[in-house]
Amino acid sequence: MITALGGGVGAAKFLLGLAQLCSPGNLNVIINTGDDIDIYGLRVSPDIDTVIYRLSGNIDKKKGWGLSGDTFNFLESIANLGVQTWFNVGDKDLATHLLKNSLRQKGLSLSEITKIVADKFGIRGINLIPMTDDKVETWINTEIGKMHFQEYYIKNAMKPEVRGVEIRGSELAKPAPGVINSIINAEIIMICPSNPIISIGPILVIDGIREKIINSNAVKVAISPLIGGKPLKGPTDRLMKGLGLEVSSTQIAKLYSDFLDILVIDNSEKDEISEIELLGIKVLVADTLIPDKRRSKQLSETILEFIETKWA
Ligand code: GDP
Repeated sequence: MITALGGGVGAAKFLLGLAQLCSPGNLNVIINTGDDIDIYGLRVSPDIDTVIYRLSGNIDKKKGWGLSGDTFNFLESIANLGVQTWFNVGDKDLATHLLKNSLRQKGLSLSEITKIVADKFGIRGINLIPMTDDKVETWINTEIGKMHFQEYYIKNAMKPEVRGVEIRGSELAKPAPGVINSIINAEIIMICPSNPIISIGPILVIDGIREKIINSNAVKVAISPLIGGKPLKGPTDRLMKGLGLEVSSTQIAKLYSDFLDILVIDNSEKDEISEIELLGIKVLVADTLIPDKRRSKQLSETILEFIETKWA
């Protein structure tokens, strides 16, 4: 059994290939919910939606989020009512949020809702689990004040300088049902090529999760989200710099060094092999760019083959 930890865009692209190699019921995915936000009267979980939309083949591939062929009439209409509309929600996407909201009003938890929505999108045999059912939000401390991650990322287009990150609510949050068991029962734990600060970081601080990963007998593998020393998309570099960290795969290895066995780095990062190995972590160099489903599958095949031949 494989258990993966991930955020949205990078995780979903990677999981698309991994899912093709796992038999039904053998892939668990623990998804970050720190990006979740209350907006337009809805509670939106961008990373969960991105994973569901990508795995079900409905993602808007160009954007990397949202549903393909979506329109934005709802957003235009609420803008006309004087509401600030910096956070994009398409019309088809809105249907997902309204369904989720109605289930919440009936008292269902986020993990129950996630299962229902994944099923409605035709995802079978993959267990998608939010990291927690409790409210946790990632806030960014910037030079112009503290703000929700989405406000930093979308409204302010990542422009304000980052001074710190707070995972609000994480101290009291409990792992969602299934999270701890999926870690304990895993033979392989995969850290997707996700932002280590705001996608993987929030998962690892939830009560018991990091400790269970450290103590697990699984092989623990992470895929670096950096290619040529940079993230492909998003604020990974800005956040790392803001926290005083070097933007490198070696730094990614350091962030996970208390549990990591293998780090997968892109060909463009191979100069870092010896520095990473000094941390006691094996390095697999591969083509980690994931432009499509075929390359995603190839990357997972390469990783699984490496584990089988070089690790066991
Ligand atoms: P978010 O929550 O939607 O930002 O998604 P993630 O945290 O899962 O993904 C963001 C990270 O994915 C960024 O740091 C990107 O560099 C990384 N990423 C996106 N596409 C790829 C890819 O094709 N290959 C690799 N190695 N990383 C990628």
